[in-house]
Amino acid sequence: MKRKYICIYKKMIIHITKRYTSIMQCSCCKKILDKDKFSLKNEDKKIYYLHCNNCREKLKTSRPDKQKQEKQRYEKLKKDARIECNCGSVYVAFRDFHILRHLNTLKHKAYLSTKASS
Ligand SMILES: [Zn+2]
Ligand SMILES: [Zn+2]
Repeated sequence: MKRKYICIYKKMIIHITKRYTSIMQCSCCKKILDKDKFSLKNEDKKIYYLHCNNCREKLKTSRPDKQKQEKQRYEKLKKDARIECNCGSVYVAFRDFHILRHLNTLKHKAYLSTKASS
C-alpha cells in the first residue's frame, strides 16, 4: 500500500515536471513560451538557450551594428584622448596605465633628466 502510494507520487512529480519543463520564460522578452520556441544549445544535455528564437533572431541581426558602434566609440575615444606631453610626444591615453606607460618611455625620461639638470 505504502509502496503504491510512493509510485503514484513519483508519477505525479514526473507529470508536473514534464508540464513545467515544456514551457520556458524568455530572459529577453520575458514571455512564457513553449519550449519549441527555443533552440537547444546543447542537444545531449538538453540545455536550451535562454532567449527565445524570436529574440535570438533579433539579436543576431542587431549584433553587427553593436560591434560597429563599439568600434566607432573606441576610435572617437582614442582621438579625444590625445595628450601632448611637454617632452614632445603626442600619445593616446584614456586609461591610467597609458599615462604610466608614457612616463616610462625613454623620450619622457630623457626630457625629465634634461629638465632636472637645467
Ligand atoms: Zn524572447
Ligand atoms: Zn612625456
